Amino acid sequence: MRFFRVIEDKALGYTGDLTNAAHKWGLPGMHCPTCDSPGGWTGLEYPCVDLSGLPARELKRLSNGWPVPLEEFERLRELVRPLAPQDALLKPGTEFGPRTGTGSGRFGHLFMQNPWSLLAQREALERLQDSGLRGLQGCALDVRFRAKNSPELWELQLVASGRLHPDCLPPDRKPPCPTCGWDEVSLPGAYWLDASSLPGHLDIFRLTDFPTLIIATERMVDAVKHLKLDGVLFHEVDVR
Ligand SMILES: [Zn+2]
Repeated sequence: MRFFRVIEDKALGYTGDLTNAAHKWGLPGMHCPTCDSPGGWTGLEYPCVDLSGLPARELKRLSNGWPVPLEEFERLRELVRPLAPQDALLKPGTEFGPRTGTGSGRFGHLFMQNPWSLLAQREALERLQDSGLRGLQGCALDVRFRAKNSPELWELQLVASGRLHPDCLPPDRKPPCPTCGWDEVSLPGAYWLDASSLPGHLDIFRLTDFPTLIIATERMVDAVKHLKLDGVLFHEVDVR
């Protein structure tokens, strides 16, 4: 199986923008007592997770990204855990719930608000799901559009799975912090995937060590081409 990174296709002239539509809730950052990191992860997003049943005072805490002490972070994480998918990676800065706010512009069939957030027009998502792809769960946005024909956009909730191959990371890198998981390594210029870490049951997912990277299988790429869906490009990533 070949694997591809999903990136935005900027050549098509779409103007879609969801800058003013953030996920409703999130785990705050954390002051880590071990590594002293700012402790916020980017790219862990679970838009289908509904926290609205939690008490209002807790939702207020889950709407403020300001770093909190370890104990408070762990308390909030355990509040959220039963409502999140079993395999969810719950790090500081993980976001939940539908994007809420306002949006504007024209969107392709597929759309990336940033390199780690993949959205699709509802019809496009349904056609992809109908073609038997695995790992395509999506949720409607809670976004108002000014345009008359506002798009019906859904955001994909991607499982975090798979990692980069250790050989493409600096050999002298420090292991991730045992308390918070913070890893100071940044994405190498050239990278490839660790074959033994890749999920066999998903056609789209994000990496656990670099959640900002969205990876699709060849099956997903073929389906997008077959259905003539636009908005994203696929760049092949080696697997070893
Ligand atoms: Zn730490």
